[in-house]
Amino acid sequence: MSKRILYIDLAPHPGGSIISLARLLQGLDRTRWRPMVALSRQNEFTGFKNMGVPVVRVRTPQWEKRTAGPVDAIRQGKAGESARKTPGVSRLWHLAGTLRYWRRDIWPVANALLPVIAEYDPALVHLNDSLPLVRHGVLAAWRARRPVLVHSRSLVAPSAYDRLLLAPRLSGMIFISQAVAQHQLQRLGAPPPYRVIPNAVDLERFATPVDRAAVRKALGVPLDAPLIGVIGRIVPWKGQRVFIEAFARLRQRRPDAVAAIVGAPDSGRGEQYRRELQHLARVLGVENSLLWLGRRSDIPQLLASFDILAHCSVEPEPFGRVIIEGMAAGTPVIASDAGGAREIVENEINGLLTPPGDAQALAAAMQRLLEDHRLRTNLQENARSSATQRYNLAAHVNAVTSFYEDILGG
Ligand code: UDP
Repeated sequence: MSKRILYIDLAPHPGGSIISLARLLQGLDRTRWRPMVALSRQNEFTGFKNMGVPVVRVRTPQWEKRTAGPVDAIRQGKAGESARKTPGVSRLWHLAGTLRYWRRDIWPVANALLPVIAEYDPALVHLNDSLPLVRHGVLAAWRARRPVLVHSRSLVAPSAYDRLLLAPRLSGMIFISQAVAQHQLQRLGAPPPYRVIPNAVDLERFATPVDRAAVRKALGVPLDAPLIGVIGRIVPWKGQRVFIEAFARLRQRRPDAVAAIVGAPDSGRGEQYRRELQHLARVLGVENSLLWLGRRSDIPQLLASFDILAHCSVEPEPFGRVIIEGMAAGTPVIASDAGGAREIVENEINGLLTPPGDAQALAAAMQRLLEDHRLRTNLQENARSSATQRYNLAAHVNAVTSFYEDILGG
């Protein structure tokens, strides 16, 4: 008999986490597992419905009012965390802030999840991000007495109450990279059973031949112009600033080069950052050779039209799914040498690594890749075989479902 799994992802905007979850569900053997997904009302992601997976929308009233989503709020230290870090603030004040945060942000969302759990009656609740971002789900599953698994996809530090109150309630944890595993485990004390399972890429979708000339034409980029792209949400830590600085350096040597920035801001801060980037491009004199493509759904086609995919995050990336997509598409990748990216890319073997934030090194790597055809071909071949061997969907789904079986007892 098939087992029901309730997946919960209440992030307000679609990002790599939800795309990775969609890949997992795409590969699930539906005769054995019956998925249902709970999404926040604002998240416009439609991938699950297209796969025939039922979706229930859940209200997240506090997060809906904010310009920054819960991830941003926690990154900025605004979600019941700030007082702890501010010297001189009394313990009482901190306790009051923590209680207010639980009452306003966590408890109502957990309440909204309870009827969903009751109606769907899942064998397992699978929460699609790191513990500090899914407290509502742990609370709801615990109150409903369901086994709960946390799929840790972010480098957001667990707090003392995550360690003491929530972690002991978990039946299991999945970490998407060693970087995330080390980061979370060292803060969790005695963790529940866990696995490190990297994200996977849909190889067929990315390896399907693309009419490069047609894509270039639609972009208005000559077929023989070097085209370098960066793909990701427009937020400061994704490092589009470094990308523009490196591109401006490259243009001094390669005046025919064109750059493409793919992605959209997902918060008010992101909008402001985009304006800063547009100003920077004007100051550096590259605004006319820089394409702002916004959020796109044709990533495989865009990748096939790029000569290089640059990944420029200035903070450690939990994983960096865009890197495995570039590798699967056969687009040479330059990635920031930190976090999950460093686990995916073996420097000079299946891609190039440059120090995070170093525009000069990034420009030099771009130029090298454009000029050295042998290097390009080697990296492309090795990258494709890494994508096939290490990031294939079937192995990923197997690893996750065999963990489900362990948790649920066969
Ligand atoms: N992506 C997309 N359209 C865009 C920008 C990004 O579909 O305009 C996808 C991209 O292909 C990748 C994901 O969003 O699958 C980003 O994942 P990654 O791990 O690189 O970054 P995250 O958003 O999780 O920090």
